Amino acid sequence: MRIAIIGGGVAGASSAIYLRSLGADVTLFEKRPFLIGGPPACHLHAGGNLYPDIDDAQRKQLLRESIEFLRYYPQAIEKRPTVLAVPKHIAIDASELERRTQLLAEYYRELVKKDAANEVLGDVEHYYLAFSKEQLLELRKLPTPDVPQNHVEWLIAYSKEVDLERLKFPVLLVQEYGINIFRLSAIAHLRLRGTTVHTSTRVTNVHQKDDKFYLTYEKDGKSQTEAFDFLINAAGFESGTIDDMLGYKRKRLVEFKAAYIAKWHSRHLYPEMIFHGVRGTEHGMAQFTPYPGGYYQLHGMRKDITLFEDGVAASTDASSQPKLPQKYLAWIEKGWPKDAALHRTERAIEYVSRYLPAFKEAEPTATPLFGAQQIPGDDISLRAAEVSFEGERYARCEIVKVSSIFAMLDAITQRLIDLGALQSSALGKRGFGELCDEEEIDALARTIAVSRGYPEAMARLALPYSA
Ligand SMILES: Cc1cc2nc3c(=O)[nH]c(=O)nc-3n(C[C@H](O)[C@H](O)[C@H](O)COP(=O)(O)OP(=O)(O)OC[C@H]3O[C@@H](n4cnc5c(N)ncnc54)[C@H](O)[C@@H]3O)c2cc1C
Repeated sequence: MRIAIIGGGVAGASSAIYLRSLGADVTLFEKRPFLIGGPPACHLHAGGNLYPDIDDAQRKQLLRESIEFLRYYPQAIEKRPTVLAVPKHIAIDASELERRTQLLAEYYRELVKKDAANEVLGDVEHYYLAFSKEQLLELRKLPTPDVPQNHVEWLIAYSKEVDLERLKFPVLLVQEYGINIFRLSAIAHLRLRGTTVHTSTRVTNVHQKDDKFYLTYEKDGKSQTEAFDFLINAAGFESGTIDDMLGYKRKRLVEFKAAYIAKWHSRHLYPEMIFHGVRGTEHGMAQFTPYPGGYYQLHGMRKDITLFEDGVAASTDASSQPKLPQKYLAWIEKGWPKDAALHRTERAIEYVSRYLPAFKEAEPTATPLFGAQQIPGDDISLRAAEVSFEGERYARCEIVKVSSIFAMLDAITQRLIDLGALQSSALGKRGFGELCDEEEIDALARTIAVSRGYPEAMARLALPYSA
């Protein structure tokens, strides 16, 4: 059975890697020159620690799924902890947040009990630690290490440089890690060597006749059509265009968002810092994500920073493809206008420096990490979603967070088993432990970062991967 995958983002590339490892015959089409070159995914979101508004069931699901993601792509993970704090003016109860984090810690312990190899978010005893103001004030007396060696050391720079007067306590240090998107992209390319992958290839039409899908695609200025027996629509926020070609109706939202890159000093390693807030208001969450080389990625969940006043669009009865304003589509295709990028990055710097005052010295860069993502249905706060099907042979990847890939892949695998394309023993296989050569990842990740216009240093991990 020939399987076509449209879209080489995390969903499509992971589908190709995984299904190929099960012995399936896959062909991947990606219109960009590189795989996983669309919207970023820089946080693992293990446990949904950045979303106090989601329920405990979704948080547990994100924790479980993230552990699998981390075990599948260990070399893409930046294993530095995250410090979660609630500013005084935000109506989130910091003790309640600790109680919910405790629930996650217990769930993590259960997962590790089931399989010791799940212990990838630090040791179970220290999934998170809570710190009072007094404890942080004590930490100020210690010298700041260049590279923190234990949980407490990660908080020394934080205790000295963050304005503690603005925060509620406790502050939580959680084993919530980052994803290096450039390394993930490189790993996808390396793991797909030997698979039919058409990059710089746009699928321009799809139609279905009986059990076949006919895909027309443009590559090197030429148009070709090929027939397939199963279709995976992994076109991300553009999935609705494929639905429209096939005449399927699907309710979805798409959201355009951006994170910004600033250059500051790189004297020592910082943890990721989260200052919680209320999404979409002027007090949205502020997020500070360190990279090597003195680069920092910033989010401010306000409409003048990460979010956009007109940045959410919904599908209609006439089209399954939500229509974002043309301006954002042009930015996605051709890049941001420099002024807009610098302006929003300056705002992001100002917003983060309310909590980290010395950061006001940071310099903006004009290269945001940005894009649009789909959210199936009509609930913008949904964070855990996977896949849907039409008929027997058409799957849509609908992940909202990249960690949901295995829930998606298990459903697709089951469908392929039902169709006789895979053996029943394929279900639930994982294939953890397949590693790529570090030097190859490093070289390719740098090339990808630079050719996409980002600083080469951002292609590295601050804490080099060790098996
Ligand atoms: C600013 C921002 C920050 C984010 N941060 C995080 C985060 O920290 N953690 C997290 O888990 N998630 C994050 N997300 C969400 C994450 O980016 C998405 O979950 C993820 O990208 C979805 O992957 P995907 O493969 O489904 O879609 P995409 O990554 O969008 O991939 C779809 C691919 O399909 C290709 N394509 C589309 N149409 C065609 C066609 N006709 N022919 C050929 N190719 C086509 C596109 O070029 C694209 O590469 C963030 C999103 C944004 C916008």
